[in-house]
Amino acid sequence: MVEFDGVVKRFGATTVLDGLSFTAAPGEFVSLIGPSGSGKTTILRLLMTLERVSGGVISVGGEPLSHMRRGDRLVPADDEHLAAARRRIGMVFQQFNLFPNMSVLRNITEAPVHVLGLSPAEAEDRARELLRLVGLGDRCDEHPTRLSGGQQQRVAIARALAMRPDVLLLDEVTSALDPELVAGVLDLLGELARTTGITFLCVTHEMGFARQVSDRVLMFDAGRVVEEGPPEQLFSDPREERTREFLHAVL
Ligand code: ATP
Repeated sequence: MVEFDGVVKRFGATTVLDGLSFTAAPGEFVSLIGPSGSGKTTILRLLMTLERVSGGVISVGGEPLSHMRRGDRLVPADDEHLAAARRRIGMVFQQFNLFPNMSVLRNITEAPVHVLGLSPAEAEDRARELLRLVGLGDRCDEHPTRLSGGQQQRVAIARALAMRPDVLLLDEVTSALDPELVAGVLDLLGELARTTGITFLCVTHEMGFARQVSDRVLMFDAGRVVEEGPPEQLFSDPREERTREFLHAVL
């Protein structure tokens, strides 16, 4: 579960998010669409704790991320709280960012061993299971450079899942893939949202992707949600003029 409650983000005199509120439920796949500069990346950066809110509260899994509890009060999070909270958030990037000099298996076991403190055997069991889940059970010992782009993206997804996050952030995950590999990654992501109970938040410029895989789409403009709904409705019959204009320009 992800909750933005009246979140404000300013950079100097510029207000990028202006009292943004939305929630995304466990197991829900939510896509964020909207024009360039509407604040989508800022939302991901706030969730990754790379930026701090200027106002409002962000919660993940029912616990405040941007704040910490002091008795009955919420106070802005300190660095330690942010670092701990950060572990509940996974991220998959456009450029898979795998370690090229480590086997596929080691790519996945590194963080669970060094960050979560799992034993190497435990981490390896978890990694093998996840690689089977993403259809790469037979490629554990290879180096990522020997895999196709679609397969590398599957490894990156397995690596993020190995940390058992409450929320998985996806930033343009299909844009570096050959078109014929995209469908397989999309099917996998939809399936994972349904089966793992993780909240998926996805920023994408690819409307076909958002339409195919999302449970809900949020249309942003100028740091606010101008419209939200299931993809069939939002893409086929948008209620707001701003959404119609945007879709007309990009489709
Ligand atoms: P795109 O689709 O092009 O990636 P976006 O919707 O992700 O755009 P953001 O990257 O979140 O948009 O940017 C929103 C606004 O915030 C932009 O006007 C941008 O110039 C501004 N902005 C983002 N980061 C900073 C920063 N560190 N300092 C100043 N302004 C910033």
